[in-house]
Amino acid sequence: MLTFFLSEAKQFCVMDRERIKEAVRKTLSEGKKITVLTGAGISAESGIPTFRGPDGFWTIGSRNYQPQEIATFWMFKRRPYDVWSWYLYRIKLCRKAKPNRGHIAVADMEKILGDSFMLITQNVDGLHLRAGNTLKRTYQIHGNIFYIRCSEECSREIYPLPDGIKGKDKGEEITEEEKRLLRCPRCGAIARPHVLWFDESYDEKYFYWDSSLRVARETGLLITVGTSGATNLPNQILWTVYSEGGTIIDVNIEENPFGRIAKETPFGMFIKEKSSKVLPEIAGIIAEVKNELER
Ligand code: NAD
Repeated sequence: MLTFFLSEAKQFCVMDRERIKEAVRKTLSEGKKITVLTGAGISAESGIPTFRGPDGFWTIGSRNYQPQEIATFWMFKRRPYDVWSWYLYRIKLCRKAKPNRGHIAVADMEKILGDSFMLITQNVDGLHLRAGNTLKRTYQIHGNIFYIRCSEECSREIYPLPDGIKGKDKGEEITEEEKRLLRCPRCGAIARPHVLWFDESYDEKYFYWDSSLRVARETGLLITVGTSGATNLPNQILWTVYSEGGTIIDVNIEENPFGRIAKETPFGMFIKEKSSKVLPEIAGIIAEVKNELER
């Protein structure tokens, strides 16, 4: 019995090209979308640490904080420049990083599929756009680290990070000149990074709540990549696709809740492998099926 379960589990942890082909064929012939939902894991191979590894820690004074404690409005209200110091360190990492083969494959999928494609990303690093995905078909549901907005909400405007703001090394303090630049251009209040913090809620204007759920209802195949599945909207997207009878393919180097649900969907699977290896193969399969349907 155990052997049966083990072989069953193994079977769904590897990439099954025929099942993927079937899922793509069914999705496109029904006029539905192929949607990719990405998390921090896709950017790990570009050198941007996920929040779960040891590199996520941040020291303020003598205490180590987890990202879940720093990336909060609560912390920003109390120690805005310690929070900015952490963000400017992450900005430095993100500027240095280059899109990897996984990001490029996702951009290829958009080129192949056009309006039958949608990308929903939890990443704030901008790498998908740098790889070639378009803003028209990309929802950055946790914001983008290269943008700021007013922390007092004097308006709903979003502004690019001011030119004089450079990335910082770990632990470097914010200078007086940087404090002067990190202000709301409209009212002069302190500016904040344009990201969704752990103690904040999604909305449509900044974080595409309604639009993402609409896309989920139009999705026949959802490819989830490098996410631990701990955030609200990605879970809602997953359950929407699941309850509408869509296929879910999960790509992750570790077992995770999305992988378990993916295995229960028609043609679904969990592929336990790095995204930079799997996504180019899936993009190739999508191109093959698209050609076949157009012949
Ligand atoms: P997470 O840190 O909770 O989980 C990352 C997941 O990626 C893990 O399940 C891990 O097993 C997997 N992973 C690591 N390397 C991988 C690889 N090469 N291929 C496939 N999978 C891999 O990340 P999350 O679920 O995105 O949620 C955390 C929050 O942190 C999100 O809100 C996100 O916005 C934010 N975040 C963003 C970045 C970024 O923009 N690059 C980085 C860290 C955290």
